Amino acid sequence: MISRKEIKSLINMSPKFDDMVNSLQSAPKLPKAMVKETQKVIAIARKFNREVVRPSVLGLDLKMHENPNYLPWEFVEKANEWGFYTMWIPKMFGGQGYNQPSMAYFAEEIASECLAMANLIGVHYLGMASLSATFNTRMINKIAREVAAGEKNQTPCLISLAITEPGAGTDVEEVDLLDKGNITCHAEKVPGGYKVNGTKVFISNGHLSAWHIVIAYSDLKKPSENTVTFAVKTGAQGFSFGRKENKMGQKGCPASELIFKDCFIPDENVCLTPREMENFKRGNKASAMQMIHYVVSVTRAGVGAFGAGAARGAYEKALKFASETKVNGKLLINHEWAQCMLAEMYKNIALARLSYVETNYANGIYGFYKNLQSKPAYYYNKVVPSKWFDRFSSMMDKPFMTNLFRKRQMDGQTDEEINRTSGWGSLSKFAATDMGIKNCRMALDLMGQAGLRHDRGVEKIYRDAKLLQIYEGTNQLNRLNLFNCLIAKDHPQAVVFDE
Ligand SMILES: Cc1cc2nc3c(=O)[nH]c(=O)nc-3n(C[C@H](O)[C@H](O)[C@H](O)COP(=O)(O)OP(=O)(O)OC[C@H]3O[C@@H](n4cnc5c(N)ncnc54)[C@H](O)[C@@H]3O)c2cc1C
Repeated sequence: MISRKEIKSLINMSPKFDDMVNSLQSAPKLPKAMVKETQKVIAIARKFNREVVRPSVLGLDLKMHENPNYLPWEFVEKANEWGFYTMWIPKMFGGQGYNQPSMAYFAEEIASECLAMANLIGVHYLGMASLSATFNTRMINKIAREVAAGEKNQTPCLISLAITEPGAGTDVEEVDLLDKGNITCHAEKVPGGYKVNGTKVFISNGHLSAWHIVIAYSDLKKPSENTVTFAVKTGAQGFSFGRKENKMGQKGCPASELIFKDCFIPDENVCLTPREMENFKRGNKASAMQMIHYVVSVTRAGVGAFGAGAARGAYEKALKFASETKVNGKLLINHEWAQCMLAEMYKNIALARLSYVETNYANGIYGFYKNLQSKPAYYYNKVVPSKWFDRFSSMMDKPFMTNLFRKRQMDGQTDEEINRTSGWGSLSKFAATDMGIKNCRMALDLMGQAGLRHDRGVEKIYRDAKLLQIYEGTNQLNRLNLFNCLIAKDHPQAVVFDE
């Protein structure tokens, strides 16, 4: 009826089968033990919600409203005590080595109770992912092992990512926009390192972090070809914190200003230089974009999970209200119109979840998790005790390890794989965060005046969820990135990021 040749040609027509379904391709390759491990992660998150998050969520929001300068150390210490800052760091770098996609399910759980607290944990992994995307194994090993030590001696060691500048937010998320943007953070090459001047703003967890992964540019006239990634430790000379933003939502998670004044970064803390990027297969500029794609394919799925969590939080509050409140002598939950609204909200959560899960399947076969998730690598990491990895830790400091990782990860990834993972990352980011907002609006509609009260929790979720549409690239930027990665590739006449 149909020849093999025909099948091949038809499934490669747009939309290409490989771009449409990641789960079907990925599922047979997945290690079975990931299922049980993911269930354990979800259970831990639910326990943490019950014991730590739920009792303090509204109190923390009010406290931050009254004193925006307050730093929620007590919560960070609890998360550290529970092991959340090393849970998804591979054992070879001193962490607990849980499977990477399980983090997104965890994020949804915590976010369903409080987005600020979810971000206090999640953004540490944005820092970790950005550091990891330099594939500088020496620096990853150094910082990740400090995080692990901070867990053992109960002194949290968090990592932030500093990329946004006062005049450039969207522009730093896409190299085609970088050279048109108002970039000011300058890294001047000096003997033995770089001298950095400039300011970063809206850096989540800034004031709480021990390490900051900072992106600066060695030539401000052509930043797209001169990206420098380095790690700065809190307390470094020439580095200081500025103001904390007084935000409308996610108040429990500080957004900080980072100021660099003639801040000297020694070569040993430089993670990736423009010269090193020239050696990558794609050259300097395209490799800078590939690094962004690597990180955001994962972190945007994470923000998608936050969106699913927000959608779920709003739904759960609305469901509780409908179960307890009578309208015209009948419980709201027994009114057909309310049942339709609750069903619609349930559907929004399910679709939001599917979008981030599908993205993580893509990351597992084509992106960041590819090597960690192959069956041999996964079981090796799972079964072998941490002490064994610790014995060989110094291997990670050797330049050949960095070269090996860069060759495999950067040069080994095809353009199609980059487009697929990044396109899906953007899809889940804007789809799920829009669902979060949608469910907040529906919950408020269903609950009437009660929904507006702080103690009901929905107005807080609404304020918190709005921020999700902005960070990790605005939803507009993410729509453009999806267009660029998954639509424009089949339409050579389409020009993106040209305005
Ligand atoms: C709570 C919070 C936490 C954050 N945490 C961090 C962090 O930890 N680290 C970090 O580095 N940054 C962080 N950010 C910054 C965040 O990534 C930026 O806010 C975001 O990228 C948008 O940039 P902007 O706010 O400067 O908006 P702008 O870039 O000024 O955009 C303004 C508007 O114009 C639109 N726009 C801009 N350019 C284009 C274009 N070319 N095409 C179409 N539309 C465009 C945008 O979509 C938006 O609607 C955080 C932000 C928030 C709100």
